[in-house]
Formats: sequence, structure tokens, C-alpha cells
Amino acid sequence: MCKFAVFGNPIKHSLSPNIHTQFAQQTRLEISYDKILAPVDDFSSSAQAFINQGANGFNITVPFKLDAFKFASELTLNAQTAGAVNTIKIKQDKIIGENTDGIGLINDLTRNLGIELKDKIVLILGAGGATQGILLPLLEQRPNRIMIANRTPSKAIKLAKDFAKFGKTCGFGLDKIKHDSVDIIINATSASLDGKIPDIASGIANNAICYDLMYGKQTPFMDWATTNHGSIISDGLGMLVEQAAAAFEFWTGATPNTKQVLSNLRR
Ligand code: NDP
Repeated sequence: MCKFAVFGNPIKHSLSPNIHTQFAQQTRLEISYDKILAPVDDFSSSAQAFINQGANGFNITVPFKLDAFKFASELTLNAQTAGAVNTIKIKQDKIIGENTDGIGLINDLTRNLGIELKDKIVLILGAGGATQGILLPLLEQRPNRIMIANRTPSKAIKLAKDFAKFGKTCGFGLDKIKHDSVDIIINATSASLDGKIPDIASGIANNAICYDLMYGKQTPFMDWATTNHGSIISDGLGMLVEQAAAAFEFWTGATPNTKQVLSNLRR
């Protein structure tokens, strides 16, 4: 029996136990997968206690991805570049930190939605932890360029500079977005959590693929994209399932069938 969990605060709403239980059934592995509410100011004691109980690994969600980054004794390249950890594997006495958010997004865009990223002009709204996690995997798909637009422009400019060694990037404020040439818009702001959308001009959505990292039947950004003639419009549920699958594979070596789980969750 492998012992897994997800740490967060809050954590009640998490779909991860449901997703990983379905993966385990598919791959005929015996696992337990709990939700653990860690205190906001003491992630490491909770994580260490779980390891002491014989944990094989765990996921980490808001607000602990940076704490997990510091807690890990080793980091994968993904985790190092993202500066955040969403998956930990315990291997003998090593605590290995990985970040599967980026690969989760890429797999949802390319495999589930059939979107080609090569040579595309990609606009990311937001410059927080999620953007930091998806930038390298997106640049590895060789888009024409990635533009990062953020409410606080300095953060977008800094991220663009930090990632320029991996591909063509530029950063600016939300009011500086050019309307004419965006193929894919990724909403990586947390505005949808408050029922809002970032303050951007409507013309940008015209014919562009619009993807919201947040998930839900119809997020405010998806409503905005529908009204303003976006093309393929999606929430981030597929990304959630795909990042979970990458974590499951990282722990167990088994590859789950994500399409089946995604369609179960949508139902
Ligand atoms: P952070 O708190 O690190 O960053 C939030 C970002 O949103 C900042 O760039 C912030 O701008 C911007 N922002 C917040 N409110 C507004 C607003 N009203 N208008 C414009 N910009 C705004 O959050 P994360 O990067 O960790 O998460 C972002 C989103 O991605 C969340 O909704 C999260 O749920 C989702 N997510 C989904 C995943 C999935 O598997 N589907 C995985 C990971 C994240 P500023 O810098 O100016 O404050």
C-alpha cells in the first residue's frame, strides 16, 4: 500500500484524492490518499509528521508550494526553474521536489485539446507562481514568443528577463497588450477566484484560443472569451488532471488514462 496525500490550506475542496483514487484503480495499485490541512505558518512540521508515518509522497497546493520548495532535499530541473514544488517523492532518506504544473498544462493543451504551440504567439496574463511554473515547459514547445502581461508590470518584466535564455519572452502591464497578433491567451491570474477578469481590452480575444488555469463550469474569463469571440475556450480542469497524472507517474512509474478521469469529473 503506497501512502500519499495533498497538503493545502484550505484543502476541503481538493479533487486530488478523487483523481488519484481513479488512477490507482486503473493501474491496479493499492494506495491511500488523504487531504491534510497544514497550518499556514508551519508546513514543514506537518510534512515531516506525514513522512514519519511512512509516506511515499505528497502533493502540495496553495499556499505551500514555496514552503515545499525549501523543504525538499533535492529538486528536479522543473522545480528549480519554477521556484516552486507541487509534488514530493520520498526515496530512502531523500525528499525530492518536482513541479508538474507546467507539464500538466502542456499535456492538456496538446493532447486533450489538440492545440499546437510551435510558432504561436502566446499571451500569459499574470506573473505569479503559476506563470513561473508553466513558462519553461511552454517555451520548450518553441512558440514564436511568449508575452507576459501583469497588473504589476515590474513582475512581468522580471519574469520575461529571467526566462529569456529559454526562448523569446517580453513582459509589460495589462494596458500595453497589442490587439492584433495573439494566438493563445492563458489566464494565469487568480482574478477568477474573486469572480473577476483582468482588466484587458476585449479585442484581444478575437479568434484567439482562450485558456483559464482556474477550473469550474464557466469561469468569468471563459464568459469574457465567449462574449468576445475567442476560438477554443477551456478551463483548467484538464491541467489539474494532467499535473496529477505526472505526479502519479513520478511516484509509481505507472501511466494513468487521464481522458477517462477527466470525462468522469466533467460528468
Ligand atoms: P499567485 O497569487 O502567485 O499570482 C496571482 C496573479 O494574479 C498575480 O500575477 C496577480 O497580479 C494576478 N491578479 C490577481 N487578481 C487580479 C485581478 N483582479 N486582475 C488582474 N490580475 C490579478 O497565484 P498563482 O499564480 O499560484 O495562481 C494563479 C491561478 O492559477 C489561480 O487561479 C490558481 O487556482 C490557478 N492554478 C491552476 C492550476 C491547475 O492545475 N488548473 C495549477 C496552478 C494554479 P499582481 O502581481 O499584480 O498581484
